[in-house]
Amino acid sequence: MFAGDRDIDVAVAELAATLPTPLQPLARVAFDYRWCWAADGAATFAAIDPGHWARCGANPRRLLTETPPSLLRRAAADTALVARIERLAQELQADRERPWRTGTASPQHPVAFCCAEFGVHGSLPIYSGGLGILAGDILKEASDLALPMVGIGLMYRTGYFHQRIDVTGLQHEYWLDADPDRLPCVQVSGSDGQPLTVTVPVDSEDVVAQVWRVDVGRVPLYLLDTDRPENSQVGRWVTSRLYESNRAIRLAQYAVLGVGGARALQAMGIEPAVYHLNEGHPALAVYELLGQVRARQPGLSDDEAWQRVREQVVFTTHTPVAAGNETYARDEVLGMLGRLADASGDREGFLARGRMNPAQPGQPSGMTALALRTSRQANAVSQRHGDVARGMWQPLFPGRAREGVPITHVTNGVHVPTWLHGPMRDLLDRHLAAGWMVHADDPETWAPLAAVPAAELWAARCAARAQLVGMITRHAIGHRLRRGEPLDYASAARDGFDPARLTIGFARRLATYKRLHLVGLMPERAIALVGGERPVQFVFAGKAHPDDHEAKEVVQRLFTLKRAPGVAGRAAFLEDYDIPLAGRLVAGCDVWVNLPRPPLEASGTSGMKSVLGGGLQLSVLDGWWAEAYDGHNGWAIDGREDSDHAAQDWRDANTLFDLLERQVVPMFHERDADGVPLRWVEMMRRSLMTHGPRFSATRMLREYAQRIYTRH
Ligand SMILES: *Cc1c(COP(=O)(O)O)cnc(C)c1O
Repeated sequence: MFAGDRDIDVAVAELAATLPTPLQPLARVAFDYRWCWAADGAATFAAIDPGHWARCGANPRRLLTETPPSLLRRAAADTALVARIERLAQELQADRERPWRTGTASPQHPVAFCCAEFGVHGSLPIYSGGLGILAGDILKEASDLALPMVGIGLMYRTGYFHQRIDVTGLQHEYWLDADPDRLPCVQVSGSDGQPLTVTVPVDSEDVVAQVWRVDVGRVPLYLLDTDRPENSQVGRWVTSRLYESNRAIRLAQYAVLGVGGARALQAMGIEPAVYHLNEGHPALAVYELLGQVRARQPGLSDDEAWQRVREQVVFTTHTPVAAGNETYARDEVLGMLGRLADASGDREGFLARGRMNPAQPGQPSGMTALALRTSRQANAVSQRHGDVARGMWQPLFPGRAREGVPITHVTNGVHVPTWLHGPMRDLLDRHLAAGWMVHADDPETWAPLAAVPAAELWAARCAARAQLVGMITRHAIGHRLRRGEPLDYASAARDGFDPARLTIGFARRLATYKRLHLVGLMPERAIALVGGERPVQFVFAGKAHPDDHEAKEVVQRLFTLKRAPGVAGRAAFLEDYDIPLAGRLVAGCDVWVNLPRPPLEASGTSGMKSVLGGGLQLSVLDGWWAEAYDGHNGWAIDGREDSDHAAQDWRDANTLFDLLERQVVPMFHERDADGVPLRWVEMMRRSLMTHGPRFSATRMLREYAQRIYTRH
């Protein structure tokens, strides 16, 4: 049905041929990430050999090709395991065979979801953070809802960077090669059996891109890759790194993603009903669509042709920060994209469409303005972000009041089966109706939680925290030894962290606006919290962009506190924040802290994940929290804007510590005769029941299908 089906079949058959017969059903499972949100998926692979599974980065293709034959034969002789494998394979097969949902999109005319990054699973290193993970969650949810969709992205050969922190707290970056031949993906071939390729004019080169296909359940994700022998070394480098620092290369990436993506879809015989540009990076696709419209209907005027393009395109903006909406000077644009501009027939129009004010030739051009001008529908990702985006982009719509700027919002949500794990998943599966996740967006689904005994909710919370604390301890000791810390500091982690202690998490991209520095602004109060009579423990994680020296210094300043009394055993910075680490942190933390400088948090999604694990939010009233907080389902810090950043920082840090000292810590320790903190558990219950239905990807994708993809 989709291009590359045959290539997948061949790869599955080749892999199956190397396996003992009882393990052969796993070959197909391995080439479709659907296993990663099946209840018994990861556990089944791990049961083959836990050590290899961990060493392979939970990549099933590597597990099945790199595990020694003797171990595979041992697994094949384990009848219980073989029965599990058969059940898993059948479950996924049945999932694949459900009929598609009918609506605007159909398998012949799917939604083409285009994005610079996709966070599907830790073993596929083509994501950096929230944007990509949201994109991955959308593909997974589309598969669950049987909404016809294909993904379009780039296959980064070295992905995003990995992080190491040295003894001074300074971040170092390194990149690892991702070999597509070892990833669960196949190269798409054309009808002649040769690799399917498209070309994209970049600078003076016609860059050739090949296409990989990764299956995310029923949704094929197509990834363009310029590492081809025909290309120059620069051409081959284009799809090398996600968020490459070199601006010219970034422009080349946008051309390959946008223009190349639309060309690849055409070459694969896919005619999307809707192009969903997720953030501005793929916006150049509109020029390819313009060319397609003109080729089909040569008589159209420019306005009519653009109108036809606009009818096919919807756009989601994610970034209320200038750095995320970057712009390029005329020379930069024409240097890399001059031939694309000329091919559009109107070089000046090409530049003008990316400007805030098209009539100002001195203004630089960017992808967000282009996408807003050439899409029929645009949306922000939370209610408050909608308002911020309308204000920010008002100049693009002269004569309209802020409220009249045509940007609506669809608040983000998270894919429940991906982010709900461990004891809390067991609890919800016990108490909610069978198959409840399909109806996660319905408040009724969560209603049975009202009757769950407080002691049972608390037991699940404590079990989840204990799993996390075990992980923190192991990682902290390992990281400290590797950094070359003194032995007493490394072993302080072993004796320090406590599975029963209030555990507070802060993990996210270390952009300055996320304000991790507030934690260190009042060091005496932070140290008192970890060292007091009722100590808390902190866990931090996050990567700073390699060029963001200010964000790196924030971590270094936090590290100056590490030898203060009590800190070594009660605070840890875990390196290399990624999907697997995020999954464990959000499942285990009691309190999830978010301190964005309002109004710069478009939505934020890690807090929604932590809700599923029974975590309570302590957050600035910005992004999703501004519409989620009801006074009883978490804690809030003022979300007002303030141009005096220093004053705002002191005020918000003060509120943060006030809340922790006067509300969070006392409530955690206020126990009944059985040791259950009743008020705490009631807040958890309310948090799950109010946020659970509203911030699931199920609700989000249904909204996209009904309000954004459907033409009204
Ligand atoms: C969810 C997630 C994010 C995004 O979290 P925010 O709350 O938007 O900061 C970033 N990185 C990883 C690894 C995640 O899982």
